[in-house]
Amino acid sequence: MVYRVTIRNGKEKQLLRHHPWVFSGAIKETEPRFEEGGWADVYTEEGRFIAKGYYDEKSHIILRLLSWDKDEEVGAGFVRDLVKKSILRRKEFFSSGSTTNAFRLIHGDADFLSGLVADAYGSMIRIIISSRFANAYLADIVQAIDELIHPSLIAASADREYASSEGLKESMRFFRNGKEVRLSEDSMDPVKILEGGIYYEIPSLRGQKSGFYIDQRDNRILSERYAEGRTCLDVCSYTGGFTLHLLKGGAKSVKAIDSSESALRHLLYQVHLNENNGTLEKGARDKVEILSGDCFELLRKEPKNKYDLIVLDPPKLAKTKGALEDALRAYKDLNRVAMEKIKDGGILITFSCSAAMTRDDFRTMVSWSAKDANAEAQILRQLSQGEDHPVRLSFPESEYLKGLIVRIIK
Ligand code: SAH
Repeated sequence: MVYRVTIRNGKEKQLLRHHPWVFSGAIKETEPRFEEGGWADVYTEEGRFIAKGYYDEKSHIILRLLSWDKDEEVGAGFVRDLVKKSILRRKEFFSSGSTTNAFRLIHGDADFLSGLVADAYGSMIRIIISSRFANAYLADIVQAIDELIHPSLIAASADREYASSEGLKESMRFFRNGKEVRLSEDSMDPVKILEGGIYYEIPSLRGQKSGFYIDQRDNRILSERYAEGRTCLDVCSYTGGFTLHLLKGGAKSVKAIDSSESALRHLLYQVHLNENNGTLEKGARDKVEILSGDCFELLRKEPKNKYDLIVLDPPKLAKTKGALEDALRAYKDLNRVAMEKIKDGGILITFSCSAAMTRDDFRTMVSWSAKDANAEAQILRQLSQGEDHPVRLSFPESEYLKGLIVRIIK
């Protein structure tokens, strides 16, 4: 069934510029009337062709545009092609010179696959679905991945954040050699990866993100450069991505703060693991202290001017544009307090992963924090998400991770 969807006058401009999302308010009419999810040809009120997309009234994004080519043959084969093309764009990550075996193969709409994320962890693939569209084509997505890279296992489940709004089941499904297999999540061995000279074991692919923040890869590696001989604080450390690299860079000490105790315990385990493997020096474990609790509270308790380097990597504080004002206040507070704890000439590595916050908002927020902390700040580097999480220019929402390395001058 192919629907014909007409977009209201005034709402078509973004879509003609290849923005992929259409919400119900932008739709004037559909023909025939909605019955079930399916492909749609999308037109302006004047009858000008805009794009082809997947229409589903039960989705929180009612229409997802997927091709702006009028002659495109949309359907299962088209979806399989999109999957393969996305994977083939990651050629450098598959080469023997790659410094990681954990990377993103499909980055949702930024890779023209709405509501679909796929990450490679060594020989296994983790799929996260956040749209009814991706769910409807899961068998084809699995088939395409399997044909191209023959993973040892594919594990797929719905994104917790969207499962209820899209009406998707959260349970994990497993596929081997393209066929669905029954496996218990608990019986799975942890996945081992090597990234930037550090070993990680990912205990559960159900954990935060798909178990590991691969988007911070380049930034973690970069943090090594500022670590030698430094007294460091890793705020919102999770399982220690930054902590491990700060140790590798020769940090004098690292204190890690996170609200998740199990993440912190796993952080210590990973320090041991790297000590045993010789990727961190003997004695690395003695340089690490963990502290579980709320970062806003714990950071305040630290003495002023104590640290040479602080990493601030809080969770997404602005979930929506509407929540931005409050979130900006929280980010500003956190950054100001961190700056107070940094010595003259010390380094702050600060992030926001809220897509609702622009790079400009972020930079302005950090400058207010510096003013309130009575400090000057110099930007040394501007950071972003890794290249396997590309930002599609026609879809600015795909730029979500923003970071700055600033030198604090008092
Ligand atoms: N830097 C990490 C990723 C951090 S993700 C890495 O590179 O792997 C954000 C972390 O903040 C999560 O581990 C989460 O448990 C933690 N967190 C969330 N709210 C918090 C709070 N109020 N106080 C401290 N930690 C918090």
